[in-house]
Amino acid sequence: MTHEWADHRIFEVEDGAILYGVDHASLFLIDSSVQEVINRWGNDPTVDLSKVSESDRDVLEGLRDIRLLIPAGSAKSWPPVRFDPEEFPMSTMVLEVAQDCNLRCTYCYAEGGSYGGQSRLLDSETARAAARYLVKESGDLKDLTLVLFGGEPLLNMPAIKAAVEEAEKMASAAGKRLLVSLTTNGTLLNADIVSFFRDHRVVVSVSLDGPPDLHDANRPYASGKGSYSKILPQVQALLENNTSAVAARVTLTPDQWSRCEEVFDHLMGLGFHEVGIAPASPISKDLFPDQEQEDVLLQSFAAMARRFSRAAREGRILPFANLIELLGRLHMGQTKAVACGAGYGYLAVDAGGEFYLCHRLAGEKDFEVGNLETGPDPEKIRSCLGHVTAGKDEMCEKCWARTLCSGGCHYENHLRENTLGIPPGSSCNFILRWLQIGIELYADLRHAGADKLLAQFEKRTGC
Ligand code: SF4
Ligand code: SF4
Repeated sequence: MTHEWADHRIFEVEDGAILYGVDHASLFLIDSSVQEVINRWGNDPTVDLSKVSESDRDVLEGLRDIRLLIPAGSAKSWPPVRFDPEEFPMSTMVLEVAQDCNLRCTYCYAEGGSYGGQSRLLDSETARAAARYLVKESGDLKDLTLVLFGGEPLLNMPAIKAAVEEAEKMASAAGKRLLVSLTTNGTLLNADIVSFFRDHRVVVSVSLDGPPDLHDANRPYASGKGSYSKILPQVQALLENNTSAVAARVTLTPDQWSRCEEVFDHLMGLGFHEVGIAPASPISKDLFPDQEQEDVLLQSFAAMARRFSRAAREGRILPFANLIELLGRLHMGQTKAVACGAGYGYLAVDAGGEFYLCHRLAGEKDFEVGNLETGPDPEKIRSCLGHVTAGKDEMCEKCWARTLCSGGCHYENHLRENTLGIPPGSSCNFILRWLQIGIELYADLRHAGADKLLAQFEKRTGC
């Protein structure tokens, strides 16, 4: 039978090469003999296995077995089959309990945390209704996630308590497991709140951007005063009393990207169990990075990957969330037909009880897709998804990362394309280089025999 090459890419690494199969996001360490056979036959549009030398045939049959050589004329895997949002039960609800904040972070999408003066708190009855909706509409799913978000969610503890208690009661009656997570700026934590989180096993992330000078530059109060010294004692109480791991969620502006390692070390020194570092979204042109700044960030992430590798060789996991999430996906061979779960069982509910495609798009009328009374409107979800993915299929078709990225975050794309007027694809170079860092690290860990360590990441995914 005649075969043709499935889309693949070879990454040269120190100890050999990695063969990456695009369709299945599969990774294989290969030696020079396999690479030579691929080089010999790789430019032929088709390969007839009966007409190659015996030694080449052995290698090519191995490549066929791992679906790198496929029967000629097989269906192409891109564009992927598009699912119907209606087929997806609710699995994750992001509840915006407070569209208000006591800080004025420089990179905040909500007009520096002020919400343009339109701050709103979710009332407790609506919080309970949202919790009931999540459980009732979850079909046969056994695992549900309720994410409590803001603004600053701790401005509205009554709604948090109402939502958590109702969701727990409903989930328990339905025989489902519920995960509750919450991201806070930490300023309003107190003993009662910490004990509520402990009793209800809430997984808490604290937005803390690093050492005082850096954090205070990013996350001041409305008065201009920094928030670091206020947060620190509250966070210590949380770290000492919470039964779940507590993560620090860092946001850095492009001029701060050279400080990633220092930030990581500072936060680990405070006792956080894990640290994730996100580049600030380009809500305005001055936060849109230039090439040099992107290089600096990638160099910082590459340095973190080297530290990760050294720790793994000592049998330890470096708790850097960015790499843990990516390694988990690579290890599971998790491919993406869509960029994220938004609209496919993942929806946000804002403080007024309206559904949005994603929490970061809450408040944008074009992404409102129904409300708690009427339920999400499948037609509106389809139309939103159609709008945010328009033009991506063609752009992504020839990209080796398409099954890992699938077009990128809708919110980030929307910001760049609609707010800044930058054409699609402006973040691709960064995405590709970041994925390559992850792939090379993954190969390195496999090479080092760190399979048991990798297996621990299997349950980790992003949004
Ligand atoms: S990196 Fe760019 S071209 Fe590649 S899949 Fe992602 S969005 Fe598409
Ligand atoms: S990837 Fe982006 S669009 Fe999708 S859920 Fe996450 S933040 Fe929202």
